[in-house]
Amino acid sequence: MNELTRIQKSEKTMTTDIPELKPCPFCGSKYAPQLCDMPNGKHAVCCDKCNSESGYFESFCEAAAAWNIRAHENEQLSKAEHLDKWISRAHKAETTIKTQSDVLEKVRDTAHRISQWCDAYPLDIFPEPDFKLARKGLKSVGITMDAVSASNMRHVLKGITGYAKELESALKPLED
Ligand SMILES: [Zn+2]
Repeated sequence: MNELTRIQKSEKTMTTDIPELKPCPFCGSKYAPQLCDMPNGKHAVCCDKCNSESGYFESFCEAAAAWNIRAHENEQLSKAEHLDKWISRAHKAETTIKTQSDVLEKVRDTAHRISQWCDAYPLDIFPEPDFKLARKGLKSVGITMDAVSASNMRHVLKGITGYAKELESALKPLED
């Protein structure tokens, strides 16, 4: 690049219709792009920072236009990439919300079945027994009240454990 005649951008643009140069599409530098006279009598825009070039043209005007088109394309591309990133984030968020709402649905369903089970033994149909009498009667046939209670408790706990396991597996998708 040293053998090239560098022309100050401001000087040149003041005297001709050469458009203001956009930042370098390769390194992003705002001030490094310069108008350059090439040895073969052609003209170009060169970046002082990363040495990229516009290609060689008959006039500075064409070189600057080509440079700016390239810079504009890069701007659009990076905007598009930015947009793509946001779109994919939005899709991901949508999937997460869908998963969460599915999980919520399952949890709600399980909770509903637990409360239905609780309602299956209303006091008006199954009133509290006279435990003294029950104990006496059971004792007469060699059964303890504790054995009956334990058996009932096992039945309930087995049912509740089943629901707990359902809840556990329903919540699993949220861990991923
Ligand atoms: Zn550059």
